[in-house]
Amino acid sequence: MAKTLEILFHETLKDIYYAENQILKALPKMAEAANSEDLKAAFEKHHAETQGQIDRLEQVFEIIGEEPTGKKCDAIEGILAEGEEIMNEFEGEPALDAGLASAAQAVEHYEIARYGTLAKWAEQLDMTDVQALLEATLEEEEATDEALSALAEGRLNEFAVAA
Ligand code: FE
Ligand code: FE
Ligand code: FE
Repeated sequence: MAKTLEILFHETLKDIYYAENQILKALPKMAEAANSEDLKAAFEKHHAETQGQIDRLEQVFEIIGEEPTGKKCDAIEGILAEGEEIMNEFEGEPALDAGLASAAQAVEHYEIARYGTLAKWAEQLDMTDVQALLEATLEEEEATDEALSALAEGRLNEFAVAA
């Protein structure tokens, strides 16, 4: 069977479905580790959004007539492992929150790459409803990335430097 864009779309959908489920498990740990109440709140807010993003992906699977299944994503495993490393190595240290915010931004950037591509492919495949679902999530990921930047630039980095 020829490997068409449809197949590539489906494979990439499985990749991000796996990734979102891993992120859903990681965010409460990151919220618990954070010192700053603002950073904690940002992680908690995005945890709730992530559940909604998983629901959207399940709608996409339904539209394309496939079962929601994940396929191991080595990239997200690696990014989340780096986040764990920061949590362990900077526990109780002034730069912990700056490190957590940067780890979370690496996650958002991976997601932005994936959703940006998937939304484009959905457009090329004339799947308007799917495109809209993916773009809704893409906007949440971008807003999260910006919120984390604002927090880091506002207080977290300064605190890490001043201590
Ligand atoms: Fe997400
Ligand atoms: Fe991946
Ligand atoms: Fe996200």
